[in-house]
Amino acid sequence: MRMDKLLANMGFGTRKDVKKLMKSGSVHVNGEIVKEGKVHVDPNQDSVTVFGEIVKYKPFIYLMLNKPQGVISATEDSQHETVIDLLLFEHAMYEPFPVGRLDKDTEGLLLITNDGQFLHSLMSPKKHVTKTYVATVQGEVTSKDIELFKKGVTLDDGYVTKPADLLIVQQGEVSEIELTITEGKYHQVKRMFEAVDKKVITLKRTKVGNLELDSDLELGSYRELSEEEVELLL
Ligand code: URA
Repeated sequence: MRMDKLLANMGFGTRKDVKKLMKSGSVHVNGEIVKEGKVHVDPNQDSVTVFGEIVKYKPFIYLMLNKPQGVISATEDSQHETVIDLLLFEHAMYEPFPVGRLDKDTEGLLLITNDGQFLHSLMSPKKHVTKTYVATVQGEVTSKDIELFKKGVTLDDGYVTKPADLLIVQQGEVSEIELTITEGKYHQVKRMFEAVDKKVITLKRTKVGNLELDSDLELGSYRELSEEEVELLL
């Protein structure tokens, strides 16, 4: 791995900051000063120090993003801003990808990682990882809908959904609900409400498994998960 990439990944600033740092002679690899960013090191074998302090390389990052509307859950797109475009260079350099998808107009908790195993374990249908959404829905959501969602509703393509927990937060012509599902079919929440003749107006994901969206994160902001939070999801 290139030295400048490793140092940027480790939070030593932008590529420009790292270049300056290296030029200053503060970076040593196996005891030798290294001034060129293009020098390759093996993070698991070589001893890298900055200002005499050992730099420990971490191979994976795990981020929690409060996704805003208007950005898409992809790594790149020729027309639209992606969730990866919202990341700082030091995180984007890990070449991470979103864990699953939220629609362009859906907000809320989106996990982003470069750990493929973590992604697969969360996405595996066998694991039944729960996802909780809050939504405003056009139409009066009733206890009948709670029962129907518990049994499973038939989507437009004939698929019958797995049991889901529906909670009515506010009932009216426009209702507010919380819904927990264990699967992630395309447009699932919107299509479940269509199956009971209602329309989702706004949708936000608040929880994945036992991990809740950090209420301090503004739309478009993100933070790294703690080790405990990563454990919580495994
Ligand atoms: N269900 C939807 O309909 N959209 C999402 O973005 C997530 C779940």
